[in-house]
Amino acid sequence: MSAQYLTAARNAVTQASLVCRVVQKNLEQVKAVTKDDKSPVTVADFAAQAVVAHILTEQLGEVILVGEEESKSLREDETLLAATLAAVQEVWPEADETSMLTAIDVGRGDTHHNGYWTLDPVDGTKGFLRNQQYAVALAYIERGEPTVAALGCPNLPMDFGSSMDTPDPKGCIYLSLRGDGVSEAPANDPKAHPRGIKRLDHPKGEPIRVCASVESGHSNVDDTDRILAHIGESSRPIRLDSQAKYAVVARGQADAYLRLPTKKGYVERIWDHAAGALVAVEAGCFVTDIHGNPLDFSHGRGLEKNKGVVCAPPRVHGLLIRAIRDLGIGKA
Ligand code: AMP
Ligand code: MG
Repeated sequence: MSAQYLTAARNAVTQASLVCRVVQKNLEQVKAVTKDDKSPVTVADFAAQAVVAHILTEQLGEVILVGEEESKSLREDETLLAATLAAVQEVWPEADETSMLTAIDVGRGDTHHNGYWTLDPVDGTKGFLRNQQYAVALAYIERGEPTVAALGCPNLPMDFGSSMDTPDPKGCIYLSLRGDGVSEAPANDPKAHPRGIKRLDHPKGEPIRVCASVESGHSNVDDTDRILAHIGESSRPIRLDSQAKYAVVARGQADAYLRLPTKKGYVERIWDHAAGALVAVEAGCFVTDIHGNPLDFSHGRGLEKNKGVVCAPPRVHGLLIRAIRDLGIGKA
């Protein structure tokens, strides 16, 4: 896919990240106006999707976008609608209710096309509400494979020395075209020159730093502990929300992202993985499900053929897949 797609994706995710940042700054005010503790993330979700759809359309013409949100519930709530429009106007000043709602519904595209965009406007909503990590995740999927990714991590410091639990003022964005590597740039400056990143394989004998969800409902904590014990690793997992986990492994700050099924029948959504998985693969990691099968994006909105995710540099990936098999994790 072309560099033009990546440029449009970067612009869209940069502006959507800015909007999310503004909503997060005014978290308490939004909660007070809407009288609902969860509403800031709803406002950010809708606003980010509107901005991404608007910018992609403006820069590429008509697009097919499979987004997580649709405008129905927003149309029925005047207070939420006004708060969302105010957020959108931060970066799209000419927007009005109609153009914003139309943009949100661009995201109602379906997956029955050779190529389409998929978006999680605020991935890691719990992290967003805790003022911790979340991501704006946009990918283009072509014949069942992600080929373009823009992964905005508005609170993630680029500097490894800064705590990942404290929101960073700049954040970072990861950009990738299939076959062309991955680069990173500050999330708040669309003109900043991106720097290529490469994930070296993990040397034998070094500790293996695993990262996993904060939410225990999203990844099995007991199975993670069993795997770590099995491979003789005593460090505790790094817990962070969203696809920032893929970025953290891609850039070498962690050595694996484990997402282990918590309940039978849960199907991972494509927008929760497409952008992050491409970023990690292009940096040099292996990304599969817990049985070692490639993530298969050719089954509509869900990864129907996969169970969980294992993302790691090659040597660690092999170790983890063997441990999962030895322990019988994920066997029906
Ligand atoms: P994380 O930030 O890694 O905890 O992942 C957030 C994503 O988890 C959300 O976008 C949801 O789509 C997804 N999710 C919701 N329920 C589950 C579940 N039972 N297992 C795995 N992922 C889930
Ligand atoms: Mg998500």
